[in-house]
Amino acid sequence: MSIGTAIGELKKELPPEVVLVAVSKFHPAEAIMEAYDAGQRVFGESRPQEFRQKAESLPDDIVWHFIGHLQTNKLKMVLPYADMVESVDSLHLLEAIDGWCREDGKVQDILLEMHIASEETKQGFSRDEILQVLRSSSSFSGVRILGLMGMATFTDDESVIRSDFARLVSLRDEAKRTLSGLLPEKFGLLSFGMTHDYRIALSMGADIVRIGTLIFGERS
Ligand SMILES: *Cc1c(COP(=O)(O)O)cnc(C)c1O
Repeated sequence: MSIGTAIGELKKELPPEVVLVAVSKFHPAEAIMEAYDAGQRVFGESRPQEFRQKAESLPDDIVWHFIGHLQTNKLKMVLPYADMVESVDSLHLLEAIDGWCREDGKVQDILLEMHIASEETKQGFSRDEILQVLRSSSSFSGVRILGLMGMATFTDDESVIRSDFARLVSLRDEAKRTLSGLLPEKFGLLSFGMTHDYRIALSMGADIVRIGTLIFGERS
């Protein structure tokens, strides 16, 4: 299937209010332009250098989401170009982004990445850490915390994926219920679902899905 066809098929399947992030990491600019020509405008990248290179050379109306692990010494490669940083996975990184943006006069839209998978290696905040950050969100004036992001365990067992995603949904709901006065304005977006589990994510109310392989093919 061509990239344009894949985008068209996906768009038919997604409810209109769901944002499709086309994850173009490891794929060349030409592949992004094929998706762009099919009408896609939101793209996701996970490596700072590659992200900067693409953001600098591709059309200005592309909306860029950074979705990979970000080290604090690479902020300058990412923050000037990012419309959204979905993968804020530690307090250390959050504070660094906040500081950088205050100095730069930018307010960065971000999501907090929650550790929902059973694999040890996946990054992210715990439930308690996220509640704590949200409680003190007014002290971070350089960022707008718009919601949460997560990646499920890599498995074919749908019940495991569902229970991982459910932790993300229930934390968002709990935060809205218990922290209402303290929450950042507009907080509530959930980004979850990739190529192998996006249908489950849609059925559970994802606002943003991040899909790479289904659109661009396997990464080499
Ligand atoms: C690579 C990546 C995706 C897309 O994965 P696919 O399986 O290719 O759809 C989504 N989210 C994150 C955080 C990723 O790193």
